[in-house]
Amino acid sequence: MNNQIAVLGFPRIGEKRELKKALENYWKGTTSLDELNALASQLRLKHWTLQRSAGITSVAVNDFSFYDNTLDLMIALGAQPQRFRDIHDANQRYFTMARGDATHTAMEMTKWFNTNYHYIVPELSATFEFGEISTQKILSEYREAQENGFKGAIQLIGPMTFLGLSRCDTLVTHALFDPLLEQYSKLIREIVVLDMNIEIVIHEPFLSLDTNVRQLSLLKIAYDQLAALSPSLSVATYFEHSNEATAVLVHTPIKGLILDFVHGQKNGESLEILGKSNKHVTIGIIDGRNVWKNNLQQSLQTLEHIATYIPKDRLSIGMSCSLLHVPYTLKNEEKLDSKVKVLLAFSEEKLEELTLLANAFFSGETITFPAHPKTSVDEAVQKRLDALTSNDFKRSHPFSVRQMSAHDHFNLPLLPTTTIGSFPQTAEVRKVRQEFKKGLLSKDAYDEAMKEMIAACVAFQESVDLDVLVHGEFERNDMVEYFGEQLNGFAFSQNGWVQSYGSRCVKPPLLYGDVSRPKAMTLQWSQYAQSLTTRPMKGMLTGPVTILNWSFVRDDQPRSLCATQIALAIRDEVDDLQNNGITMIQVDEAAFKEGYPLRRENRALYEQWALDSFLLSTAVAHKETQIHTHMCYSEFTDIIKTIESMDADVISIETSRSGNRLLRIFKETGYAQEVGPGVYDIHSPRVPSVEEMQTQIHALLEVLPAKQLWINPDCGLKTRGWSETKAALVNMVEATKKVRATL
Ligand code: GLN
Ligand code: ZN
Repeated sequence: MNNQIAVLGFPRIGEKRELKKALENYWKGTTSLDELNALASQLRLKHWTLQRSAGITSVAVNDFSFYDNTLDLMIALGAQPQRFRDIHDANQRYFTMARGDATHTAMEMTKWFNTNYHYIVPELSATFEFGEISTQKILSEYREAQENGFKGAIQLIGPMTFLGLSRCDTLVTHALFDPLLEQYSKLIREIVVLDMNIEIVIHEPFLSLDTNVRQLSLLKIAYDQLAALSPSLSVATYFEHSNEATAVLVHTPIKGLILDFVHGQKNGESLEILGKSNKHVTIGIIDGRNVWKNNLQQSLQTLEHIATYIPKDRLSIGMSCSLLHVPYTLKNEEKLDSKVKVLLAFSEEKLEELTLLANAFFSGETITFPAHPKTSVDEAVQKRLDALTSNDFKRSHPFSVRQMSAHDHFNLPLLPTTTIGSFPQTAEVRKVRQEFKKGLLSKDAYDEAMKEMIAACVAFQESVDLDVLVHGEFERNDMVEYFGEQLNGFAFSQNGWVQSYGSRCVKPPLLYGDVSRPKAMTLQWSQYAQSLTTRPMKGMLTGPVTILNWSFVRDDQPRSLCATQIALAIRDEVDDLQNNGITMIQVDEAAFKEGYPLRRENRALYEQWALDSFLLSTAVAHKETQIHTHMCYSEFTDIIKTIESMDADVISIETSRSGNRLLRIFKETGYAQEVGPGVYDIHSPRVPSVEEMQTQIHALLEVLPAKQLWINPDCGLKTRGWSETKAALVNMVEATKKVRATL
């Protein structure tokens, strides 16, 4: 079997998150650089061995990274920002770019397309000058593979994506395109010195976005030039189709294309031109970013269909993208319910699936696969879905009426002050939760401990004189996990970690089945907190879209349907809260914007069902119940109408770092509901002064009238310590009072 199957990368963090631990110890100074390198070597070897056992003849090389592949690429291209070039030690410079130090702020980090992986954003400008290229990392990993008997396929992020990720404007792209291409050419020339036929896979996920004519003409120039330097250079795109780019790339001398047929099924529209070209095509047929078993029978059919356009000797099959985005193995999952476990395939199991599929597809023999497992249906949930009517998605009264009733009901001053929900998650808080989870603490003792923390938090908020209080979220480890753990249809792995950034990993909930809420999830705590004060206590829920966007979601039904099911569960909670005296309820949609599809053509559909899910979860609120929501950003320019249609009475957003610049959109569109633009940045321990916050509040008042404004921090306070939290909130309330006095 020759190159019939391939992968674009393996989870480098390791089976037991070995890389995470080694990195953190290295940063702490308890592991030496040599030890770190030795571990990295071991991991690569192990991952290559796994790939080879699956039948992969060219294993992925240079998919490894100590922090991030885009950062590695900056080093390779000589694209380190000027501001780090005073650091002479290469390792120190690398980690300082990623993490900052006393004299350098870290480089910006942001999400890699629509995944939860974060890359380091290149810092380029029209006058940027590239330094020397460096093939050291790439070639040493390639040689390492070779010395151990592996043939490697070098994975490299491409020029279109590099420029795209830099968020360059046209001017910068124009100025930098030629010099950048020159750097890439030098890299490739140095690589092929080693062996003319080295396989080079250039990752260009940027081409899966909406591209314009100018970008496509640059694409042609780039790959005419780069592919001329290497006979084995292929281009990979993923997360969507890339038909516009495919039409260009088939006319360049590249050897092949690697396309995503899971998340980019529309790539099928290019089959005809691919068939007519001489290109080798790798079909990404197994989902590289979700955790469910592949439907092998169905995949085989897709492949056979593709083979009617492209002869099998010009086809390979693979994962839809790098396996970086899925956990490592199922074999250490001892506690997962077997009915859930049978549905899953992590990286190791995905390799096995690939082998099976390749055997069936390329051998031409008739192979029957085991039946694809199905989740059981929850009839009650289905009934409820069937019974939904348009009224369930609509509040009973318009905002103007609700606003007046809230005014009478809560009797708050102008510019009401509040927080976003969580208070510091100290070591003590975490210890209480952990001990309870391990069974070291009884339910009664746990409840007592929680109540004590809530009481202290409420007393503190009263002492600071905040107008609207929260209970503090001490019972929550994570805003999605907390709800997932209490809902039917969710499961949790023990080791299902995926890299989020650097050494950070997350373990997303597994949304495998029909979702329902067996009993109230937050009522006990909110009710207790409300019993301690006469001020309004905000109930605190996570919204359906955010729960969905931060989970691994079943792929046997549309995401929209899963969102509707979660929405019903949250709706029940909203109703329980309001019927038990909690009439101000915040439904967080921190990740609403993250779910936006990569391509414009799919946006309207997402907006519709995401919006509907939020509405379904909140529209049960009575006229007197005030619904808040919170979002962790404020770039609303192109989605402000959708945000407005969510019909939340109050929305708090993150604006402290942008001043009131981003807020103008609320004014310009005549946004009617109330807004709480964060007045200080909770991502830093810095305590802004009273004057500073006064200035900030005055700036907000220039954009929005006082009766529409709330005063709050930017986001939840769980990552902060108590001392800075106290100081900042005292200043925030004082600043608000001073401004109020002038109104
Ligand atoms: N209520 C949550 C908190 O305060 C919101 C967190 C978030 O927006 N990410 O922690
Ligand atoms: Zn937030």
